[in-house]
Amino acid sequence: MTPAAWGDGTRSVRAGETSAVPGAPLRPSPVFAAPFHLGDQPPRAGGADAYARTEQPTLRDFEAAVGELDGGRCLSFSTGMAALTAAVLACAGSGDSVVLPSDGYYTTRLLAAEELVRFGIRVTYVATPEVASFAADGGLDGVRLVLLETPSNPQLDVCDIAAVARAARAAGALVAVDNTTATPLGQRPLALGAHMTVGSDTKALTGHSDLLLGHVTTADDDLLARLRGFRDRTGSTPGPFEAWLGHRSMSTLDLRLARQAATAAAVAEVLAGSPAVTGVRWPWRAQDPSFPLASRQMLRPNGVVSAELADEAAVAELLARTRLWTAATSFGGVHSTIDRRAQWGGDDVPPGFIRLSCGIEDTADLVGDLSVALAALE
Ligand SMILES: *Cc1c(COP(=O)(O)O)cnc(C)c1O
Repeated sequence: MTPAAWGDGTRSVRAGETSAVPGAPLRPSPVFAAPFHLGDQPPRAGGADAYARTEQPTLRDFEAAVGELDGGRCLSFSTGMAALTAAVLACAGSGDSVVLPSDGYYTTRLLAAEELVRFGIRVTYVATPEVASFAADGGLDGVRLVLLETPSNPQLDVCDIAAVARAARAAGALVAVDNTTATPLGQRPLALGAHMTVGSDTKALTGHSDLLLGHVTTADDDLLARLRGFRDRTGSTPGPFEAWLGHRSMSTLDLRLARQAATAAAVAEVLAGSPAVTGVRWPWRAQDPSFPLASRQMLRPNGVVSAELADEAAVAELLARTRLWTAATSFGGVHSTIDRRAQWGGDDVPPGFIRLSCGIEDTADLVGDLSVALAALE
């Protein structure tokens, strides 16, 4: 375990590493195997690996690293949606009630509406800024699981994890937090009282826009066993190459987040100063409605900003004029991107609503390029 006093940069590199072995690589290479030799031993004798759907060495290293940053024990999944599905279905079944964010990630709401309800799970949707008062008013009585997403994607609202966790524990409900936007360095839901923290590691944790991964971390042994069994039986275990690439990529998480956040601060000001833009959101901007809670609850800022242009044509014009901001969905990668969310049809946002993901190009280049493109809309 890395000492708790070490900073984010050290922890990003050293999390999950074991003691040095002379002649071994600094970071173990991926072990490519589906079955492993059993020899003359019974399966898993002495902790030996047997079959990679259950577990395998490269995955264990990556999970140890992410678990250390999250402050619990991590299980990795093939995508963020596989992780969220496991978090919900390992806890809730037919007849149970779950509370989900009405303004959260679109596919999470589709998971509920198209799949969970088919299995007899009752779903209540509450907007992220309202979850804490919903919980304080007894809304979690009889609820099995509440899933929070803070900051929410794409509108970047936040909710008070500790307050919801207190109310949930009093009501006997479990709390899971989709921590994708914040990343494990930006927010530690387990330390705030949540039972599970979930992430789409497709986004900033791995941060190169070239792989799909997700994870669930918990400090609760029973939940861990339920999740592990669910993953093994439903088969959403990632392969060794993804796990290795994920572990390799997260070494630079601290550096990437620092650059992305510095750019986001500058980009939010440029957007706010433009007459062509309204509704700029970045939880770390002092004027942002999320700021008081975000700055208390979160550990550091990140690079996702949202804003509104006049309409679809204005977004097209902006994208046509920029050279560095690429039209693409997802966020948290090394490339700077802009996504017009309404084109996907799932979020309740106006046609000109955009989510900007600041990459790691030079801040001055990104700000200069965006300013020139915006000037054409003014
Ligand atoms: C992208 C995302 C997911 C889903 O992750 P995948 O890796 O695409 O399956 C879940 N939650 C949030 C907040 C996301 O942004």
